[in-house]
Amino acid sequence: MTVPGPPALTAARTRALARHLEAVHVLAATDANLARDPVRFPRAYTDPRDIEVAAVLSAQLAYGRVDLFGPVIARLLAVADAHGGPAAYVVGFDDARAAALADVVYRWNRGEDFVLLFRLLQVVYQRHATLGALFLPGPASRSLGVAIDVLRELTPGTPSRGFRTWLAHPEDGSACKRWLMFLRWMVRRDGMDLGLWAHLSPRDLVIPLDTHVMRLSGFLGLTQRTDASWRTAEEVTGALRRLDPLDPVRFDFALAHLGISGTCLGHREATVCAACPLDPICAAPPAPTASAPATPARAGRRRS
Ligand code: SF4
Repeated sequence: MTVPGPPALTAARTRALARHLEAVHVLAATDANLARDPVRFPRAYTDPRDIEVAAVLSAQLAYGRVDLFGPVIARLLAVADAHGGPAAYVVGFDDARAAALADVVYRWNRGEDFVLLFRLLQVVYQRHATLGALFLPGPASRSLGVAIDVLRELTPGTPSRGFRTWLAHPEDGSACKRWLMFLRWMVRRDGMDLGLWAHLSPRDLVIPLDTHVMRLSGFLGLTQRTDASWRTAEEVTGALRRLDPLDPVRFDFALAHLGISGTCLGHREATVCAACPLDPICAAPPAPTASAPATPARAGRRRS
């Protein structure tokens, strides 16, 4: 059976999207969603540099299952807290601290990756008062690209394979979702995000394209593309910019948590969709059957 795609983004369609996304945005602002979101880790700190270090670490580890990466972030931050907090920990990072990370593993990231990340942040803080100094005002493609160039240059030693995945560059076509999520946290100012860096504008952000946001963007007609690339992230952001030119990634948290919470199953399910504010504008496919199994990624508590 052919599933009709979403209609083109006419003015009327754009107004409908704005109305329904606003409804889902309001519903998503709950303590339960925040308790599942990696932004909860940097939100626990008040010192700006502690927040920066906790945010970098949390964003870079926010891939795979929320219930698996959360304990790894918590463990690393507990180690840092025992040394005066995340900023003090990286500023005083030495061989003894590096040796203590040898057994930290999360999927393809190993202890050596965390050692390199903390040594890199140490170098950054020897040169700048804030990590924000590496991110210039302007479009995210340039701002992030320049920052990644500098971070690659400052990396002490030979980058390990797992570490290299943390320094993906927009020019390589990567969606750079972890850095874009980090930037959303640092730049947007609301009940969820941290709003620490006033020199950057929310209007320049690009959406962090995780599994859930990618899939819902297709259902809502924000993109026809199917690859999770920088180009797709720009296209989705361009569509959202028509809804809110000053803050195009405002709906990211709500879209991501429709999937992370397990609410959206990634296909039509009458009882579930009837309670979803996106129901009138969603072009999700019907539930898979034995003769027509699902092909997209399944819903669940994943952040990437
Ligand atoms: S498939 Fe159903 S639950 Fe998921 S976004 Fe569409 S209407 Fe909402």
